[in-house]
Amino acid sequence: MQLKELTTIHIGGEIDKFVECHSEEEIINSFKFADQNNLPILIIGEGSNLIPNDDEFKGFVIKDIRNDIVNNTYSAGILLENIVKQIIDSNPNSEIRALSGIPGTIGGAVVQNAGAYGREFCDFLEYTRVYDRKTKKIIYLTNQNIEPGYRSTTLKNSIQNQPSPRWIVLDVTINPNPILKENTRGNHTREEILFSRSEKGTLSPNNDKGQANKIDNDRFSAGSFFKNPIISREKFAKMNLPENAPKYDVENPERIKLSAAWLIENSGIPKGFSLPESNIALSSKHTLAITNPNQIGTRLEVEELAKYIQETVLKKYQIELSPEPIFL
Ligand SMILES: Cc1cc2nc3c(=O)[nH]c(=O)nc-3n(C[C@H](O)[C@H](O)[C@H](O)COP(=O)(O)OP(=O)(O)OC[C@H]3O[C@@H](n4cnc5c(N)ncnc54)[C@H](O)[C@@H]3O)c2cc1C
Repeated sequence: MQLKELTTIHIGGEIDKFVECHSEEEIINSFKFADQNNLPILIIGEGSNLIPNDDEFKGFVIKDIRNDIVNNTYSAGILLENIVKQIIDSNPNSEIRALSGIPGTIGGAVVQNAGAYGREFCDFLEYTRVYDRKTKKIIYLTNQNIEPGYRSTTLKNSIQNQPSPRWIVLDVTINPNPILKENTRGNHTREEILFSRSEKGTLSPNNDKGQANKIDNDRFSAGSFFKNPIISREKFAKMNLPENAPKYDVENPERIKLSAAWLIENSGIPKGFSLPESNIALSSKHTLAITNPNQIGTRLEVEELAKYIQETVLKKYQIELSPEPIFL
């Protein structure tokens, strides 16, 4: 098997060994074995946030295929979209609806603190049960331990040079109605969000069969390739951006979030852009997704396009864009 079969951008080399885990014990034993024998081990969700290497992956890739739901506790391999739908069906006012249509599993959503429309997955976490590879113990993490930020958590920060985090998510307990700050992005319905995602090609491929059957080459991506930059208001004032440039308040009143997509497009890089002879292109629907339309592109080509975009935006706006996906 190749990793490209397990990632939404369809990139990645041969895998030494692929294991589907049916139980918590199998997941933990796989990690114990790999860690004792110093073998790389990657736990993969839907592969919707990964840019692997094209070379052979000399280690284990494991996938949690449990589908366990007990009250508000969900095992890590379940798709986030399925959980959001289930919660909204019985609890239509839950603001978890902002996360409608995001691809990926619960495990991936914790690691990345997946978010959209003003809400983040960790907003809804009561606690997260994990296997700690360092102490070899199962523990509960609170949100304080996870330190959720904008597409960032302690789990993600623990990855560094190895493919999986130190803490392996086993299951999460969700509070569908936590106390939340006002949503500065407005209160959209689930239907509005799914429609907008469908238009932009950013809907989970597992969302609904009608969409999944549509041939849409823009789908072969890892989602937003760059984070929206957060800069000081002082720098923002000096930039003299036009009124229509999107900007969002963040928790720190001295800082402001800009739209990476807007910066890219207004640096002169259009939707669908590709470097000469490259198999990798920007999505034809928006400039934030780097896509592999014919599924023959390489990681190197992704890096070349990313570098070109970063240099172009830096030159025009003196802003450094940082990538959102995890590079293996
Ligand atoms: C079309 C498209 C649209 C997207 N839109 C959004 C969006 O709106 N908002 C957003 O935030 N993201 C978005 N993304 C990115 C992606 O969907 C999210 O980051 C998602 O949470 C990743 O989940 P996954 O299961 O695919 O994780 P993977 O990509 O499989 O893995 C990501 C990381 O999590 C780790 N991991 C996975 N499971 C576990 C576990 N059980 N325990 C510990 N570590 C684990 C992996 O080892 C890896 O390091 C989009 C992606 C695509 C392709």
